[in-house]
Amino acid sequence: METETVDTIIIGGGLSGIYAAFLLAPKKPSLVLLEARSRVGGRILCPAYQGFYADLGPSWYWPMLNPRINALIDALHLKGYPQFETGLGRFQARDGHAETIPGYPMQPPAWRIDGGMIALVEGLCARIPEGVIRLNHPVCEIERRDDGVRVTVGRLDHEPRCRLKASQVILALPPRLAARSILFTPDLPFNLSQAMLRASTWMAGHAKFFALYDLADWRKCGLSGQGFSLCGPLGEIHDGSGETDRPYGLTGFVGIPALRRNGEDTMIRAILAQLSLLYGPAAGRPLSVYYKDWAREEFTATEYDMRSAHNHPEFLPPSGKMSFWDGAVHFAGTETADHLGGYLEGALASAERAASAAIG
Ligand SMILES: Cc1cc2nc3c(=O)[nH]c(=O)nc-3n(C[C@H](O)[C@H](O)[C@H](O)COP(=O)(O)OP(=O)(O)OC[C@H]3O[C@@H](n4cnc5c(N)ncnc54)[C@H](O)[C@@H]3O)c2cc1C
Repeated sequence: METETVDTIIIGGGLSGIYAAFLLAPKKPSLVLLEARSRVGGRILCPAYQGFYADLGPSWYWPMLNPRINALIDALHLKGYPQFETGLGRFQARDGHAETIPGYPMQPPAWRIDGGMIALVEGLCARIPEGVIRLNHPVCEIERRDDGVRVTVGRLDHEPRCRLKASQVILALPPRLAARSILFTPDLPFNLSQAMLRASTWMAGHAKFFALYDLADWRKCGLSGQGFSLCGPLGEIHDGSGETDRPYGLTGFVGIPALRRNGEDTMIRAILAQLSLLYGPAAGRPLSVYYKDWAREEFTATEYDMRSAHNHPEFLPPSGKMSFWDGAVHFAGTETADHLGGYLEGALASAERAASAAIG
């Protein structure tokens, strides 16, 4: 099998990989981004309903804390709007009993993006030359060779699909996933591979739900759409509407750990029953529903993510290393950021660091 030679290979087409490709494209004549899935965005996923985009991954950025996201929104001519939080909240006790409670606005304020978070990724992709991004290209093996780094695409238990070689490689996927699913030759140092496995992939063990409605009946009753539940299935609920117009939305995070969650249909039925109890019968009859169990996504989660981290871990480059193999392979991916790791802002920061290291 022939090996295609390029200057730089980026592995992963989530926000960090796509942003790295955007930064490197003007500087690198031959650049390739290999993405395992049939779509870009990674943990950013926004199914469309009549021009509205339902965030099943991240929905918020924090303008007071996220200078890179603010700048990217401006550069891509996108528009943010504050999370709707006007009104009272709902609380559901362990025995299922529900009561209305005072609202609890988030501090600092969280904002959403018009067009969904995917607008960030699409805006960047539109500025990356055609042919750079290759979908359906799962990397299974990375080898250090005398003349560069060889990357194999396919599955380890099958014949390789294709091979590429580059002097610079950027790993723009969660380090835990890279350590668990990609064969590195020679072996990575023990400390480094352990540190990669220990870096829990933020939100990988979670599941998210989104329901769309013609009317925001909860708002008419003075409710903000925010809710907390100790019995579930949703543990935390928010208004997920666009800024001005229909469809309106309720969205939330499942409170049941990954190992105890049922299949999608059962979960959706139970969630709709919970929403009608909390917000009235109309909340149980949405126009459309979306559900994503991230723990079941092979290109996000590993078995180590089934016990999801609820407190935000402190992320750092694994074992303090931003690169390995004498500067030929660089870490990107939000879990390798040293500030706001786990978040979208961290994904951009890690991409900036890896892109400048790859430029040299
Ligand atoms: C439910 C949920 C809610 C969240 N909410 C927020 C929020 O409100 N605000 C916020 O700031 N952040 C939030 N996050 C976190 C945010 O989504 C991440 O910080 C960000 O999307 C990470 O981007 P990334 O590029 O580092 O990683 P990823 O998005 O995980 O991208 C990695 C990419 O690598 C690809 N890949 C994996 N394996 C391979 C392989 N072998 N070969 C090739 N490609 C591969 C994947 O398919 C993926 O496209 C949330 C995440 C989830 C899941």
